[in-house]
Amino acid sequence: MSKRLVILGSTGSIGTQALDVARLRGYTVTALAAHSNAALLEEQIREFKPRAAALFDEAAARDLRVRVADLSVEILSGMDGLCALAQRDDADVVLNSVVGMVGLQPTLAALKAGHDVALANKETLVAGGELVMRTAREHGVRILPVDSEHSAIFQCLQATAHGAWAPPQSVADMGVSRLILTASGGPFFGRSREELRTVTLADALKHPNWSMGQKITIDSATMMNKGLELIEAKWLFDLPQENIDIVVHRESVIHSLVEYNDNSVLAQLGVPDMRIPIQYALTWPERVPSPVPKLDLAAFAKLTFYEPDGEAFPMIDYCRRALAQGGAYPAAVNAANEEANAAFRAGKIGFLQIGEAVAQVLEQPLPKVTCVEDILAVDEVCRRRVREAAEP
Ligand code: NDP
Ligand code: MG
Repeated sequence: MSKRLVILGSTGSIGTQALDVARLRGYTVTALAAHSNAALLEEQIREFKPRAAALFDEAAARDLRVRVADLSVEILSGMDGLCALAQRDDADVVLNSVVGMVGLQPTLAALKAGHDVALANKETLVAGGELVMRTAREHGVRILPVDSEHSAIFQCLQATAHGAWAPPQSVADMGVSRLILTASGGPFFGRSREELRTVTLADALKHPNWSMGQKITIDSATMMNKGLELIEAKWLFDLPQENIDIVVHRESVIHSLVEYNDNSVLAQLGVPDMRIPIQYALTWPERVPSPVPKLDLAAFAKLTFYEPDGEAFPMIDYCRRALAQGGAYPAAVNAANEEANAAFRAGKIGFLQIGEAVAQVLEQPLPKVTCVEDILAVDEVCRRRVREAAEP
């Protein structure tokens, strides 16, 4: 079936792969948005001919308006621009692949407008999981997971659901006893905490299995990515964190698993290529051919599994604590991580200080959060503290 897509974050790693899928499937692209990459967005506009586009950055949006003055595309800017695209009534699905908390308001806008959201932007669910899932439920729309682990679980659950299943539908009556998220372990697998003290940005950007944007690549090196995914899984699949485990699986062939109450376990496998989960989110409940290579298990010879090392990589524990403390704490750890991750990339702090910044917000008293404004306020305060601490 042909679909009409809005893609937020179209110039990024997920966004460009989503456009590969759209090109192959012949989907209509209604609108595209990014932060400031006017040159690439111009190319995408010329190829996909959306009716509207947006750049968050005002100056870049002005530049883009000049670049595409010969076309009849409307160019918007800022958060209002992103939300306006997310609400357009000429779309079937909004794919949110912006990086960071900035994706929260556009996700809510899309859900309120009655659109299914294909969600790569995990920070949205970490910071505002309860609100996002409630909004989807109230508006009778779906959150289609794009993150590979959550897509794997989503795909496994189809086997035991009575009919096509998608969040925020309940997993009750499916007999699910445990979700097992796989983690690659990142570039520093096997290193001690002491050895991590002196690692550089270049070392941290060498991910063994996936080529992704810089922020998530650093999150993979600290293993914060798996902590964020734990929180993401809790909200998407509505299970207590005690029923969600993490196992390090170096080859990234098994993308995650679902255990049932008879101790039978289903898993989803494939070569590590995001075009499978992106495409599945867009074609669900159908499967269609993809350009992704076939899995050749014999070529791997063996698949390996390990317990995560909580001493060298404490981020998963911090995220478990944030969930246990509840309320604003998941938003706070996400905010501290976003800011510390950026400070590390800017050369302002060392690798281990990213974790220290996240640990600190868990010790701070935080108010209750009930609406998006509350979440944004907590986000801002936690970021400011990390920013100020990172300045010399
Ligand atoms: P990239 O850094 O490659 O791309 C980020 C995209 O978001 C770019 O298009 C960027 O625009 C845009 N963007 C950033 N800030 C804003 C803003 N304020 N307003 C509008 N657009 C903005 O990231 P990835 O594609 O790697 O990751 C995107 C999301 O998907 C993240 O949440 C990540 O955790 C998640 N994800 C990614 C995976 C991957 O394989 N890459 C796997 C699983 C999840 P510009 O180019 O102009 O800066
Ligand atoms: Mg993932």
